[in-house]
Amino acid sequence: MKIKNIYCVGRNYRLHAQELNNAIPTSPFLFSKPTHALVEAKGQTIQLPGDQGTVHYEAELVVHMARNYEPSLPLENLIDQMTIGLDLTLRDVQDELKKKAYPWLLAKGFPNSGVLCSWQPFEGLQEMAVHDFTLEKNGQEVQRGNIKDMIFDLPTLLEFTAKHFGLGAGDIIFTGTPAGVGALANEDALVLKWKEEMIGGCRVRMAAK
Ligand code: ZN
Repeated sequence: MKIKNIYCVGRNYRLHAQELNNAIPTSPFLFSKPTHALVEAKGQTIQLPGDQGTVHYEAELVVHMARNYEPSLPLENLIDQMTIGLDLTLRDVQDELKKKAYPWLLAKGFPNSGVLCSWQPFEGLQEMAVHDFTLEKNGQEVQRGNIKDMIFDLPTLLEFTAKHFGLGAGDIIFTGTPAGVGALANEDALVLKWKEEMIGGCRVRMAAK
């Protein structure tokens, strides 16, 4: 699938905002990643920076736009597919960038920082809220999220993104991570589940290049 723009929502789950000592936002907070950041998690080993401090995992629901945003269209017509992704983050680098009030690109845009599982059909908001998504690290569940816990729901995120940046066919949105983010170590094995079934996974290699 050819993906155009990659938008990511920060601080969209209350408990996650709190665990990083961030204020609960009053309007959606977005950043983006370059398309070079993307990698599909299909059981392989992926290379991550090993010499830039901590790399944190952030498991997130990701939606794919079927067509250009139009406010009158229902969500089911705008979004055709969804998956679970990882918004991998150089947390120490990000902390330094935050102190300087610099953009987050260095912490969020490195190669393989945007991990995607296999695409699933989008079945609508109500059906999505019935199911949790989870991340397991080395066989242990570390994150569990549900769309109903989002601070800003999908219609709000789409409207906001379209208004400020444009939102069209082929764009994807990482919709924010629930609580439980943490550091990755070399050779950690990750499994992402939707509807309690594995839809992707990978092992990480963190070596200095
Ligand atoms: Zn994130």
